[in-house]
Amino acid sequence: ATESEEKDLVIIGGGVAGYVAAIKAGQEGLKVACIEKRGTLGGTCLNVGCIPSKSLLNNSHLYHQILHDSKHRGIEVGDVKLNLAQLMKAKEQSVSGLTKGVEFLLKKNGVEYIKGAGAFADEHTINVKLNDGGETSVKGKNILIATGSEVTPFPGLEIDEKRVISSTGAIALEKVPEKMLVIGGGIIGLEMASVWSRLGAQVTVIEFLDQIGGPGMDLEVAKSIQKILKKQGINFKTGTKVVSGDKTGETVKLEVDSAKGGKPETLEGDVVLVAIGRRPYTEGLGLENIGLEKDERGRVIIDSEYRTKIPHIRCVGDVTFGPMLAHKAEEEAVAVVEYIKKGYGHVNYGCIPSVMYTFPEVAWVGQSEQELKKAGVPYRVGTFPFSANSRAKTNLDTEGMVKMIADPETDRILGVHIIGPNAGEMIAEGTLALEYGASSEDIARTCHAHPTLAEAFKEAAMATHSKAIHF
Ligand code: FAD
Ligand code: NAD
Repeated sequence: ATESEEKDLVIIGGGVAGYVAAIKAGQEGLKVACIEKRGTLGGTCLNVGCIPSKSLLNNSHLYHQILHDSKHRGIEVGDVKLNLAQLMKAKEQSVSGLTKGVEFLLKKNGVEYIKGAGAFADEHTINVKLNDGGETSVKGKNILIATGSEVTPFPGLEIDEKRVISSTGAIALEKVPEKMLVIGGGIIGLEMASVWSRLGAQVTVIEFLDQIGGPGMDLEVAKSIQKILKKQGINFKTGTKVVSGDKTGETVKLEVDSAKGGKPETLEGDVVLVAIGRRPYTEGLGLENIGLEKDERGRVIIDSEYRTKIPHIRCVGDVTFGPMLAHKAEEEAVAVVEYIKKGYGHVNYGCIPSVMYTFPEVAWVGQSEQELKKAGVPYRVGTFPFSANSRAKTNLDTEGMVKMIADPETDRILGVHIIGPNAGEMIAEGTLALEYGASSEDIARTCHAHPTLAEAFKEAAMATHSKAIHF
């Protein structure tokens, strides 16, 4: 074993949280090591999450649009064929380009990248089982846990990534299944249901709650996107719980039960996607060697400055509290390095956008109507449909709306909820408004270029403040 010099910061995990912290710490002049066992940097997000799923979503949308949404636009196409192997290759190219890019950025910022699995030997020492064989150890004045998350398994239905798949299997299927069942109508369930339904599978999504979309999605928006996705061919069974699964036969069988006590039913699929959430990942990390605690959901416990109870050991990203989102992990990564280097940092957890990359996209920031109602906070709502937006009409993509929620007295924006083409880009405008404490009038009086989809955002603000012009 070789013993390297003591670092200012040792980071365990090279996912979005870990690699961003590594770059930021390098920029701040700290001596940094980043330990990653996967063999490539970027974690779940770049390797098996955000990036490959968005590649498949983008290209499956193009395929579906060419097949079903081109003739009336004046484009007649001949023999359209799916080349799934090439679709996957395009996905792999995006992934490898980006993961290599991150490796270059670590090098550029003087970060030592150690390829292997790290485990606490003591409060300052991490032992690393190197991917190439052998071991090393590295000491850090500060240590950052950024080990991320893994899929939550469904009890009794073992994931084999062929017939019973997690999102990792769902981005790598070798053929389009005839019938696909999806357990969980959260973001992963709906994004993957979109991909495979567009490519020709008959997809049924089974969701325990009465609304799809997972935590945080505004109810009106959830109902509306469910209708749109249903029209696209995805079947839904909401208010339905998957009780058990059996993959011993030709097809995979799921026993489902109405959440409200209706009659049980058996569903069959060639492939079943388990998408019931993700859980923090700390396996083999040796937290027990230093007495670090997790909460009842397996999250590493930290304070508001990302410190565990051993103050020089901090933790950010999916493995601790908060939404499991890449951009949340990134914000925390920058803030934690600022705490280490300067003693202060900041993340505004009330202002983290969410995006679901279906077509149309769904995006939101701030609070939903239900959350405000529950908290007894008064609010005013203004909406504007894309069917009244000139650019959406021109593009023949008129489904969706912008919904804005503001304080009735101060007019301060409390939440923005969008269904629409490009909602994921447009929500940046809402996030900026929320972060700066804008009122709906501020937005209503801000000139927006014509003809753009963003005018729907302005008009929703006008509707919130007084009246929209075009609706
Ligand atoms: P991770 O990305 O999980 O990285 C942790 C890394 O630590 C891993 O690479 C792991 O190998 C490594 N590691 C763990 N233990 C050790 C150890 N002991 N030693 C060395 N290395 C270790 N979020 C979005 O914001 N937008 C999206 O569009 C989006 N799409 C997603 C799609 C899918 C299918 C999935 C599954 C997730 C998606 N997410 C998305 C969520 C996003 O991927 C995560 O929030 C993000 O990756 C969290 O970053 P992280 O660094 O905390 O953890
Ligand atoms: P989720 O928590 O968003 O959704 C899981 C859904 O499964 C919930 O709606 C839940 O009610 C349902 N469910 C649980 N048990 C069930 C059962 N037995 N029967 C029927 N339904 C059941 O989790 P996810 O979709 O797996 O996503 C995991 C994480 O990854 C989330 O934190 C998400 O934010 C993140 N992610 C984000 C993006 C994005 O930002 N675009 C994309 C993919 C994943």
